Amino acid sequence: MSKKTGFVYHELFAWHDTGNWSLFLPPGFPIQPGMHVEHPETKRRFKNLLDASGFINELEIVEPIAATDEDILRFHTEKYFSTVKKMSDENGGDVGQLTQVGLGSFEIAKLSAGGVIEATKAVMAGDINNAYVLARPPGHHADADMGIGFCVFGNIVIAIKHAIANLGVQRVAVVDWDVHHGNGTETAFYDDPNVLTISAHQDNWFPPNRGFVSDIGSGDGEGFAINIPLPPGSGMGAYESAFDRIVSPALEGFKPDIIFIASGFDGSAFDPLGRMMMHSKGYASLTKKLMAAADRLCNGRLVMAHEGGYSPTYVPFCGLAVLEALSGKSSGVDDPFLEFAQGMAGQDLQPHQEELIAIVEKQISHLKGH
Ligand code: ZN
Repeated sequence: MSKKTGFVYHELFAWHDTGNWSLFLPPGFPIQPGMHVEHPETKRRFKNLLDASGFINELEIVEPIAATDEDILRFHTEKYFSTVKKMSDENGGDVGQLTQVGLGSFEIAKLSAGGVIEATKAVMAGDINNAYVLARPPGHHADADMGIGFCVFGNIVIAIKHAIANLGVQRVAVVDWDVHHGNGTETAFYDDPNVLTISAHQDNWFPPNRGFVSDIGSGDGEGFAINIPLPPGSGMGAYESAFDRIVSPALEGFKPDIIFIASGFDGSAFDPLGRMMMHSKGYASLTKKLMAAADRLCNGRLVMAHEGGYSPTYVPFCGLAVLEALSGKSSGVDDPFLEFAQGMAGQDLQPHQEELIAIVEKQISHLKGH
């Protein structure tokens, strides 16, 4: 039986060197040098669990190929492109806002973006149904002219623009479940009615003052940006309700040719950069909801690109659960942390979370009748 789920990873993704920052700030008194929270191990341990469990054998390996300059420049400015190259060639440094690159990061960032392009090509060609790209550096915060929040190049934006330019794709939906707002993707398509962006994130966290309910797109794109700023403490009940009442109906109304997911696992209960309570079973559940929509709307075409997620111990279990859902196969590995996350108070939908969801739900009525 053929494998239906593609998987993209490269050891070089782990060689992108974010240096001796502490948590997410550069060292210098009073911050002692430490280890950047966006360090390689979180992603590498995700890949390691796939290897150790043997689940990697259930996946179709798709090799990343570096994105071309043309691909990158469909989104990023020439000036930013050369800044990243220069810093990566010389001493490394911050290419924008809290986005450290090291020696050689330019080539790795091109490979990361190219991985999402290759996955998209394979899905569009029908070689695989869906794909997960364990991309690093991540992409969803990056703006056209600067890196933001550990994101060097906008991996998903670049893949979407490639798909529209070369693969006959016209309508694209992006669902971002990273705990932080998908500002880069939203900004890139804010005026564009052909790309629906939906971000479900922790209310006003990062970037500051982004992702409010009232941010709905502008010009021709008005109504084609959806923000679901969930209150801190949201668990599986809030996420499932937001997906059932907002994300799935919006996708149904919009009728995309392909769905991209910005997959951060920093909404997990064990994440140092989020205050949410998601867990592996929750992410698998959201994946199945998106797959159901994709099956109905676009032959199941779905491409996930990895974004944040900063618990080196827990991210692998969320990733494995999502890949099990995508492929419809079981690894036989149980998440040993699941019972602890599930047992936390407030996993069910809470009234103040329901209030927010109801407000956003009202805003998407135009899509339902699209
Ligand atoms: Zn994040």
